[in-house]
Amino acid sequence: MTFDEYQKLSKSTAQYSEFVPPWVYLALGLAGESGEVVDKLKKVVRNNNGTFSDEAKIELQKELGDVLWYVSQLCEELGFSMDEVARINRAKLVDRKERNVIQSRGDNR
Ligand SMILES: [Mg+2]
Repeated sequence: MTFDEYQKLSKSTAQYSEFVPPWVYLALGLAGESGEVVDKLKKVVRNNNGTFSDEAKIELQKELGDVLWYVSQLCEELGFSMDEVARINRAKLVDRKERNVIQSRGDNR
C-alpha cells in the first residue's frame, strides 16, 4: 500500500465536528494522538525500566497508526498527496545528510 492509497482509504472513515473547520479538528487530533504515543513510551520507562514488552509494542503500533491517520487526513484537507509529502521529506533529509547538517539547528538548513 502506498501512502496515497492509505490516504484515500482513510478518508472514508473521517468524521469531523460541525463546530470547527476540519483542519482544526485534525490538528487537535494529531496533537492528542502524539501525546498518546508519548504516554505509552513514558509507561515503558516508568513501569518496565525502558524495556518494551510485546504488549507495549502492540499498543505503540496502534497509537502510531492513529497518528498516521491524522497526518493522512490533514494532508487530505490541505490538498497534499502523502506520497509527495514523504518524497519531499526524504529529499530534505538526504540533502542534509549529504551536506553533513543532519544534527544542526533550524528548519531550513
Ligand atoms: Mg489513540
